[in-house]
Amino acid sequence: MIRRHDGYYAQFLIDHEREEKKELTGKQTALDVGLNFFYTDCSGNQIDNPRFLRKDERKIKKWQRRLSRTQKGSQNRSKARNKLGRAHLKVSRRRNDWVCKLAQHVIQSHDLVAVENLRIRNMVKNHHLAKSISDAAWYRFREWLEYFGRIYGVPVIAVEPRNTSQNCSNCGEKVVKSLSTRTHRCPHCKYETDRDHNASRNILKAALKQLSNTVGQTEINASREIDLCYVGETQPSKSARTPRKRKSK
Ligand SMILES: [Zn+2]
Repeated sequence: MIRRHDGYYAQFLIDHEREEKKELTGKQTALDVGLNFFYTDCSGNQIDNPRFLRKDERKIKKWQRRLSRTQKGSQNRSKARNKLGRAHLKVSRRRNDWVCKLAQHVIQSHDLVAVENLRIRNMVKNHHLAKSISDAAWYRFREWLEYFGRIYGVPVIAVEPRNTSQNCSNCGEKVVKSLSTRTHRCPHCKYETDRDHNASRNILKAALKQLSNTVGQTEINASREIDLCYVGETQPSKSARTPRKRKSK
């Protein structure tokens, strides 16, 4: 049993092999995390950061202020602490729910998904970026991507972020730009596109290269074993939830 601010929850450890059938889509993509969007993919689709994160953040701040104004050991203090705990819980559930559904959608509509292997901890330490990565929603999103990737047999490939925003995804030349430069304009091949779109194309390229280097050695997605600590806070949307096979080894 685990205790949360709104009650007790039973926790189950599910150890089973779950596989879902998925038709090939013929589409591969890479997701680039940007400052302005949650991600940008290779088709130029941009997903906005969810607004509710900011709204919820304000609520948390409100309860933090109230808590700090209360007297130690007072009834008001424990009340405020409980409210704050509930607010935190609500935020994390909402965020988790959002990234879970988004990740499932991305996996279902592609045959391969590439991402940057960002060191989230470093990003969070940086105050300017902390807000922009939406409370590390990206981190949870990555976990769900990998989870659904295993279920649907879609490789999720993480590549080292090396010059993905600087290099030209069309000709490969380095085109140096500052963080505020939103458009990639290549003086060498004249290729012009959104900065994050250019980056996502580079991420996909790097992933495919990485894949062709390793494909001989290990079979992709060989292990479908899932050890998942399922707290039951987020329900994957219906289609992923229904046929749950339990196979004995
Ligand atoms: Zn170029």
